[in-house]
Amino acid sequence: SLTLGIVGLPNVGKSTLFNALTRNEAVAANYPFATIEPNVGVVPLPDQRLDKLAEMFESARTVPATVSFVDIAGIVQGASEGQGLGNQFLANIREADAICQVIRVFDDSNVVHVDGQVNPSSDIETINTELILADLQTLEKALPRLEKEARTKKERRPAVEAVQAAKEVLEEGRTLFSAGKGREVPELAELNLLTTKPFLYVFNCDEGVLADKDRLAELRELVAPGDAVFLDAKVESELVELDEESARELLESVGQEEPGLNALARAGFHTLGLQTFLTAGPKEARAWTIRQGATAPEAAGAIHTDFQRGFIKAEIISYEELVEAGSMNAARSAGKVRLEGKEYVMQDGDVVEFRFNV
Ligand code: GDP
Repeated sequence: SLTLGIVGLPNVGKSTLFNALTRNEAVAANYPFATIEPNVGVVPLPDQRLDKLAEMFESARTVPATVSFVDIAGIVQGASEGQGLGNQFLANIREADAICQVIRVFDDSNVVHVDGQVNPSSDIETINTELILADLQTLEKALPRLEKEARTKKERRPAVEAVQAAKEVLEEGRTLFSAGKGREVPELAELNLLTTKPFLYVFNCDEGVLADKDRLAELRELVAPGDAVFLDAKVESELVELDEESARELLESVGQEEPGLNALARAGFHTLGLQTFLTAGPKEARAWTIRQGATAPEAAGAIHTDFQRGFIKAEIISYEELVEAGSMNAARSAGKVRLEGKEYVMQDGDVVEFRFNV
């Protein structure tokens, strides 16, 4: 499944956040694999629609979609016994589908900042610069080969031009993602450049900052068009240890309506370009993860490869229409349940029953 790789300077709260991601009891119960991979943290995507469906279909349980975060720093520590730590680190980022940078906003004189002071904008730049330099190196290595090919093969010229354009963006100190570049031609996409990956920025804030709308808007502005999440990693790591009622009390005392991990899951999902469709029956009401733009057979494949192979049709109704109708039977009688074929592009919140050959 798609993952976000967690990066950031030392002492910004990465481990604290990652502990919260891995200690989440709700996840551990439903997703035993979550604890198998020590460097992967899984967060459920909050989805109230599932509760409603479970009520309607008398489902025994609900299973939300999840988002996976890889603790890249953790991998690096393990790899440090070997050699080429820098390269290993970059290789690990390359494997992630999106980059999640944790940025320190919290002020605490007991926690040393590597640069001596808390400065979100310079922290972002430090990490960006590292990634940009790595990409420049990749491009400079690829360019002579492509240029040589282009001398004899005209059709290779657009690739050379695309690489040069990408290089210019990087030389200006910008990421390819922020410039909307880096995947124009297959030759460039194949290089799997780090800064073409979508970015999600997690600002690790104090309570005071979380309540300060203007400050949050300023921070968001720093990282546009990347996604931004604001949370207090320390509070998050405490919340996952508490029972429901104590967690609610703690949230209230810090003036938050929901755990920051909820917002993190939603943002991660968005950054990765994912969406969900829903199934419901007596066993479970469940949200399944697919790419935005996925077709009905691809959605069937998210449940089981056999469903995709034997796909015939999908019976589909939007969640809103189903709720309005009150039940699947009522929706069917009202002609609200559509029979969709292979070309159908899934919409977020489609409630689906697949018909397939086995
Ligand atoms: P890492 O090096 O990025 O993994 O950072 P850690 O998660 O180890 O955090 C470094 C120190 O900062 C630890 O002592 C944490 O307890 C502390 N810390 C992390 N998040 C917060 C926060 O939101 N507020 C405060 N005050 N301290 C934090």
